[in-house]
This record gives sequence, C-alpha cells and structure tokens, in this order.
Amino acid sequence: MKLAKFTTVDGILVCETGLRIGGTAEGTGIGETDNPIIRHPITRMPYVPGSSLKGKLRSLLEQKYSDNSQKTGRPCDCGKTDCLVCRLFGSGDVKTTREVSRLIFRDCPPTEQSASQLDDALPGAFAETKTEIAMDRNKGTTRSGSLRQQERVPAGTEFDFSLSLRVFEGDDEAAHWQFVAEGVEMLEADTLGGSGTRGYGKVRFRTKDGQPLAEYLRSLGG
Ligand SMILES: [Zn+2]
Repeated sequence: MKLAKFTTVDGILVCETGLRIGGTAEGTGIGETDNPIIRHPITRMPYVPGSSLKGKLRSLLEQKYSDNSQKTGRPCDCGKTDCLVCRLFGSGDVKTTREVSRLIFRDCPPTEQSASQLDDALPGAFAETKTEIAMDRNKGTTRSGSLRQQERVPAGTEFDFSLSLRVFEGDDEAAHWQFVAEGVEMLEADTLGGSGTRGYGKVRFRTKDGQPLAEYLRSLGG
C-alpha cells in the first residue's frame, strides 16, 4: 500500500449549547468543582480531545453500519476491507488490523477569540459551573442531597479542529469523505460529551469560510 497524500480539513467546532467533556478531579485547580471538564494541563483552557470526536463519530457510524458492533456492543473489529468503519477509524482489535486507519483527529483548542472571551468572562476557570438538582415528585421540592455541580464550556464557545485523511493509491477518496460527512451530520443531530439528553453538547461544524462542514466534505476527492 503506497501512501499517495494527506488531505487536511481545518475548521471550527461551534458549541450551540454548553459542552461537557469530563476531566479527572486529580487535575483540579483551586476553586474548580469535583466534576471538572478536561483542560490543557498548563494553560488550564478547555479543549476538545481528538479522541472524543473520533470516538463519537465512530460509534454513531457503527450504530448505522456495523452489524458486528451492534451485536457485541463494542467497537467494530471485523477488520474487513469493505468495512468503512474499520478502514477509516481502525479496527478495534490489533489482531484483525490489516490496514492503516485513514483518519487522523487532532485535539481542538479554543479559537483565539473564544479563548480571550473565556478569559474575560470567566477568568481562571474558563468554564461555567452549572448547578443541577433533582425534584422530589411528591412534594414538588428539591430532593435533599441531590444538589450537584458540574463544569461545562459555555454555549457559543468555538474550537479549532483539524481532520486529516490518509489517501493511499487505489483509495476512493470521495467515498471516504462521504462517509465522514455522514458521521458529521449524525453528530450534529446527536450530542458530544456528557449529559447530552439534558441539553448539553449540541455542536455544529463549519469550515473557516462558514460553509457547513458536511457539505464541504462531500465536495472533496471528486
Ligand atoms: Zn469493521
């Protein structure tokens, strides 16, 4: 297999609602909550790990296209060359890995503008702390002990993302981008990160020129 080229797409991930990608309490700084988000260890700025994007896109596409994954409840490890999940994202099992996975996801830092807005509005924390409660159904009051706080990146925050496709000789590049475009649309209809069924994690992807990402990806490799 001969590597012909890399095609890289840079764009913006927009948080339309608060986004929560959990970090570890171990790395918590002073004044941060017990349910912190993931942050850059030095700047303390939130970021979206490439692994989170990759994992979510993969699992959505598996729910639609991988019988194997639907049966086992685990990442597809069929390793078949006609399985676009294994081909693009890598087989979930090294033993069945026959090919190099095609997609490379980078970690996504906040855009310069978002970083400066977070610094102005939420200095030091760069995230909002959201308090949630559970109601006692009978009394109509707050259930005692149900108060909890979690951090999330506020709605409107934007992150720089970068996605690269390894294109080997003989690859149908357009078909590969189609598949990614479908995953992107599924992710926009679904959620990223935690607490998605409670309003968190609605995201949208666009190119730096403002074109919807899925639309742009479908124009590639033709
Ligand atoms: Zn597979």
